[in-house]
Amino acid sequence: MIIAIDGPAGAGKSTIAKNIAKRLGFFYIDTGAMYRALALKAIQEKIDTQDTEKLIKMTAKTKLDLINSPGGLKVMLDEKDVTQQIRQPEVTKIVSDIAKIKEVRKIMLALQRQFGKRGNSVLDGRDIGTVVFPDADKKFYLDATVNERSRRRYKELIEAGQNLTLDEVKKDLLYRDKIDSTRQIAPLKKAEDAIYIDTTDMTIEQVTDKVLGYING
Ligand code: C5P
Repeated sequence: MIIAIDGPAGAGKSTIAKNIAKRLGFFYIDTGAMYRALALKAIQEKIDTQDTEKLIKMTAKTKLDLINSPGGLKVMLDEKDVTQQIRQPEVTKIVSDIAKIKEVRKIMLALQRQFGKRGNSVLDGRDIGTVVFPDADKKFYLDATVNERSRRRYKELIEAGQNLTLDEVKKDLLYRDKIDSTRQIAPLKKAEDAIYIDTTDMTIEQVTDKVLGYING
């Protein structure tokens, strides 16, 4: 069984996907983490975000894995655990520029489908219901107002010890939303058959219950 959860940054996708995976005993596949790991590697190798050719070569030579461990999802980049590092603001800033490259997405798509075959899975991202698993058993599109999404992301980052202003977080969200929803390949879009949930005024528990209700019902 495949459950697809798409939507813009800060809509609550990863929290909900994690909850659902835990409740159902499914694998959790954070596809954004895969693009983030590539962005981290580009920074480490000092590759310019405009240098498409080098980024494609880099991606082709990269080994990515997502490991569901009792402590949570571990993101492995070339056999190294980068779970924490991929959340750095430098990574967030450039990730959408890398994720818009057609050939990079092609490589990620194959990998995401491979991960999905490991067993029952909940995947979260931007193009899961539209491109990666168009035949997913259940599809959801989570959304919230930009102010609410910024507030949530800000709270998360502050709690993680990062030093950013709410305004910076909002700017970053809007920048990524724009690139993610206007790119030519697999843009952020609600699949026609996805269930749309506006989470602006909902708690995490309410959204989790609603999604579970649709899955079980
Ligand atoms: O989900 P998260 O915000 O961590 O994703 C980081 C970035 O990765 C997104 O802003 C988007 O550019 C890219 N992404 C994507 N397709 C996905 C998941 C993420 O393009 N399926």
